[in-house]
Amino acid sequence: MDNNKKLAQLLFPHIDKTPDYYEELYPERNLPEGARVARFAPSPTGYLHIGGLFSALVDVLTAQTTNGVSFLRIEDTDKKREIDDGVSAIVNGFKYFGVEFTEGVTGFGTEKGAYGPYTQSKRAEIYQTIAKSLVEKGLAYPCFCTADELAELRKEQEQGDALIWGYFGKWAKCRDLTYEQIEKNIAEGKPWVLRLRSGGTGEKKIIFEDVIRGKIEMPENIIDEVLLKSDGIPTYHFAHACDDHFMRTTHVIRGEEWISSVPKHIELFRACGYKLPKFAHTPQVMKIDEETGDKRKLSKRKDPEAAVSYFFEEGFPKESVLEYLLTLLNSNFEDWRRANPKEDISKFPFNLKKMSSSGCLFDLVKLNDVSKNVISVMSAKQVYDNVAEWSKVYDPEFYEIFTADPEFSTAIVNIDRENPKPRKDIAKWSEVKDYVSYFYDALYQADYAMPENIAKEDVAAILAKYAEAFSLADDKDQWFAKIKDMCEPLGFTPNVKEYKKNPEAFKGHVGDISTVIRIALTSRKNTPDLYSIMQLLGEDKIKARLNKAFESLK
Ligand code: GLU
Repeated sequence: MDNNKKLAQLLFPHIDKTPDYYEELYPERNLPEGARVARFAPSPTGYLHIGGLFSALVDVLTAQTTNGVSFLRIEDTDKKREIDDGVSAIVNGFKYFGVEFTEGVTGFGTEKGAYGPYTQSKRAEIYQTIAKSLVEKGLAYPCFCTADELAELRKEQEQGDALIWGYFGKWAKCRDLTYEQIEKNIAEGKPWVLRLRSGGTGEKKIIFEDVIRGKIEMPENIIDEVLLKSDGIPTYHFAHACDDHFMRTTHVIRGEEWISSVPKHIELFRACGYKLPKFAHTPQVMKIDEETGDKRKLSKRKDPEAAVSYFFEEGFPKESVLEYLLTLLNSNFEDWRRANPKEDISKFPFNLKKMSSSGCLFDLVKLNDVSKNVISVMSAKQVYDNVAEWSKVYDPEFYEIFTADPEFSTAIVNIDRENPKPRKDIAKWSEVKDYVSYFYDALYQADYAMPENIAKEDVAAILAKYAEAFSLADDKDQWFAKIKDMCEPLGFTPNVKEYKKNPEAFKGHVGDISTVIRIALTSRKNTPDLYSIMQLLGEDKIKARLNKAFESLK
């Protein structure tokens, strides 16, 4: 047995499999030409970041548009960062948005697909098998340096002439330990990590083609990177190479913060004898800082909208958030949407190459606009169901009121809806309570702010007259004719143009009269169609409210 083989056996006596075993267990995928395999690989930090949803959409759409595969892999090798059941927050986040992976983790301890386990902590044997084979090939070695020694080395490098910091070249003290020295250290129970024996000299460049960013050139890796930590758990870099190889990932799509690690990853893939996947580094999701006006990363600490739970708590429909994210993902999405107003977004021909490489701005104001559009084309039934579902969890009191008479509430949200020019008032379900509050006695609080240009006596006259005139049996034309008819006797004009030409001649115009009526009935200056509102309020409520408004003038 040569020394490398002996060393591999010494370090990994419990590993009896070979890489070939896993090559057979996880064969090349049998997919149509051009199909892409992409993965979303979060660490279970206890919440799903909006940037995570953004990236996952890229994976799912990349797979969908090429008849490929997307999967969810949980990267839980960093125990320090992991929090209890952080997986559920991620899986539930995706469930809420209806984002579905073909394979991978589906819940706490559950998964689907033939390339698992999809949780890294369950793959220790795979990593160690590959690690053992690297030692056999002389491409990895154990390092016994203590934290103090590494800190010392760093200090020397900082003060000395090292161009970069890290474990390499003359600093890599354990690189050339003999078998006997290693054996002795292990016999003494010294902890060790496994390091890559980098072949880099620093003279060559690594050039790779990033699918989003094009050609990228960087110095090759020279660091003897840690592959396995002292507990036998891999580092991100090593796990990434093993997993994306055995899960047969074709496209490694991940955040741009990983670009600087690519030379390391390329060396690792080559050391393991793996075909290189394609890399696509997505831009970060940014926002404009309200105080400084500068662009910055969305931060979990400062920005509630960084966590996707914000969107379901606020009651943004998932369709709105997805629709908005798509406008950030591909600049041609909005054109496509205009041409295909009713199409499901899964039909959008998403293209990785059309992604912008600079950070994309997440703008809540824009999201609100997109959402108003999305909600405006929903049916009344959809709106009713969504509001009921949302309020049941986030506003139970309103839920009781809203769902007490489903037909009534559906009719309310149907005002100015299901027509070619629907109103665009509602951006999220949490706004609905206020939006419809005047329909429900339990919520309505009269608060009249009558137009300042109308004298109190005139307001009183309008209210008194209208209380006599209105009839719910009127159709809309008759209803409006009655309001117009009130104008002249009260010194107003039914003709707005005429009023504008000669404002001195009138107390106001027909619009002022309807505003007074509107405010008396709803306490608002702006509402959807007043005729429809009155039909739903019913005679008793209308009379009572007109009367109350009249009394309030005294
Ligand atoms: N677990 C890594 C992270 O959360 C994933 C990076 C990757 O997608 O490769 O940043």
